[in-house]
Amino acid sequence: MKLLTFSGENGGPRVGLADTERDVVRDLTGTLPHGVTLLDVVREWDVYEGKLAAAQGLVEYSLTAVTIHAPFPVPNRDIFCVGKNYREHVVEFGRSGYDSPDRSEALPEAPVVFPKMTTSVTGPYDDIESHAAVTQELDYEAELGVIIGRGGRGISRNEAFEHVWGYTIIDDFTARDLQRKHKQWLLGKSLDTHCPMGPFAVTRDEVKNPDELRVQSWVNGELRQDGSVADLIFDIPELIETISAGITLQPGDIIATGTPVGVGIGFDPPRFMKSGDVIEVAITGMGKQRNRIA
Ligand code: MG
Repeated sequence: MKLLTFSGENGGPRVGLADTERDVVRDLTGTLPHGVTLLDVVREWDVYEGKLAAAQGLVEYSLTAVTIHAPFPVPNRDIFCVGKNYREHVVEFGRSGYDSPDRSEALPEAPVVFPKMTTSVTGPYDDIESHAAVTQELDYEAELGVIIGRGGRGISRNEAFEHVWGYTIIDDFTARDLQRKHKQWLLGKSLDTHCPMGPFAVTRDEVKNPDELRVQSWVNGELRQDGSVADLIFDIPELIETISAGITLQPGDIIATGTPVGVGIGFDPPRFMKSGDVIEVAITGMGKQRNRIA
């Protein structure tokens, strides 16, 4: 299933089921109890999965006639982001001088995990704020987001996929000057609207093999990133094992798995985004974001 959070002529936000072959969203309002969000659905998937699969006679809208929000406009908690998780990106990042305080092209020996605040989340087609008063160095990072279903602590890599509910697209948008200046990455990663998410939350069964997913981005139509999830340094099971070793993963948690080579600071000189630029991010079978810098 491809689930989404949308608003339409009858209000919202509400939960829908996308049929991307027919370009429609099927409205699940009557199927779910009043006020239930997509995050609630993920948290209680055992309760809702059968109901959604059996839903009949749903009202449909054209996907282009509704406003699509982030699947989880307010996620369960801060997003677990993974830095430096594709080899060629590690090299471009180290070479750029922005990898403060590390400045290293060496591959990490363990996953680099940092938070991105919930309040940075925005919709897959919303404008991204430029925050010109605090940053002049806007950059994009196309990433596969893993959505946790069943929570747990001490999850082994062998059981890891049993804890995955599904996937979404994340643009780990970044203010590079803040990332470098403040050493710790929270500020540079968490400005308001700097986490476009969606358009869909795709259930795990739709993705037979995550290694076959391509993660791509374009700036003003120019292809910038074209990576394969198979090239992750630390794969999805290892990330889940590492994070859950001492932190109990909760249903609805999101792990942004890292970005492939081709971000703005990988160029010499860096190619930062500016007002009016458009960033698009796509992952195989998960749709495509399109956000303009305001
Ligand atoms: Mg990132």
